[in-house]
Amino acid sequence: MSHTDPLQPPHANGDETTELLSARGIRKSFGDNVVLQGIDFGVRRGEVVTLIGPSGSGKTTVLRSLNGLETPDAGTLEFDGGPAIDFARPVPPKQRLAMRDRSAMVFQQHNLFPHRTVLENVIEGPVRVQRVPKARAVAEAEALLERVGLAEKRDAYPHELSGGQQQRVGIVRALALKPDLLLFDEPTSALDPELVGEVLHVIKELADEGWTMVVVTHELSFARQAADEVLFMDGGVIVERGAPADIFTNPREERTRRFLDRIL
Ligand code: ADP
Repeated sequence: MSHTDPLQPPHANGDETTELLSARGIRKSFGDNVVLQGIDFGVRRGEVVTLIGPSGSGKTTVLRSLNGLETPDAGTLEFDGGPAIDFARPVPPKQRLAMRDRSAMVFQQHNLFPHRTVLENVIEGPVRVQRVPKARAVAEAEALLERVGLAEKRDAYPHELSGGQQQRVGIVRALALKPDLLLFDEPTSALDPELVGEVLHVIKELADEGWTMVVVTHELSFARQAADEVLFMDGGVIVERGAPADIFTNPREERTRRFLDRIL
C-alpha cells in the first residue's frame, strides 16, 4: 500500500493530473448476454466519476471489473501508468492481486460480518489480508470510526446499528484498506429514505477531501453536486459523458434525455 495516514487520501501530496486508472475496450458477456460492449474511460487522481443509467445497463459490471470481482473478456486496464492488464489473455495471479489491492468496494448491502463487532469488521482486511500489525490496525480503525461519527459503536454488532450506520461502517472498512480508488456500488439504494443523507454526506466529504472514486448511483442530486464527470450508460455502452452541469441540463443524446426525463 502506498500511503500510511488512514485519514488522508493516498495522493494528498501528489500529482492530481495523472490518470490513476485507464480502462480501454472493456467487453463482458454472460453467456449470450453481451453486457459491456467496449467501455473506455479514465479516472484522474482526486477525480469523482459517477456512472448513471437504467437498471441492467452494465454499471455494476463495470465497477466489479475494476477490482477483479468480474473478469472482462477483452480490453485493458492500466493503473497509475503501470503495465496494462490485458484481458484478452489470462491474467497472471500476481497481476490480478495487485489490481485488487488498488481499489476497495462499498457494496449496496454493507456485507458486514454479522457475528463480529464493528471494530473487528474494520480490521479484518488490514490484519488478515494486508498483514498490518493488529495494534496499528486498531488505532487506524478507531481514527476512521471517529471521523464518521461512530467511535462509540466500535464494540457494537452490525444488527445493533441502523442501516445508515452499517453503511458508514462499510465505508470505513473500505478506507481501512487504504486503496487508491474507492468504488461505490449504489451505496444508498438499500437504505430507508431518511438514512440516505447521512451516507451521501460521508461520501461527499471524502470526495471533497480528494479521494478518487467511481460511484454507481441513482442519486442524481449527489452526482450533480459531487461528480467531476458523469458517464451515462445504456445497453452496455457509454452513451454520453461530461460535466454534471452539461449532462443534466443539456444532454446531447436522446437516450440520455429520455432517462433523465423519467427519473428527474
Ligand atoms: P446495472 O448495474 O446497470 O443495473 P449490471 O451490470 O448489474 O447492470 O447488469 C447488466 C446485465 O448483466 C444484466 O442483464 C444482468 O442480468 C447481467 N448480469 C450481471 N451479473 C451477472 C452474472 N453474474 N451472471 C449473469 N448475468 C449477469
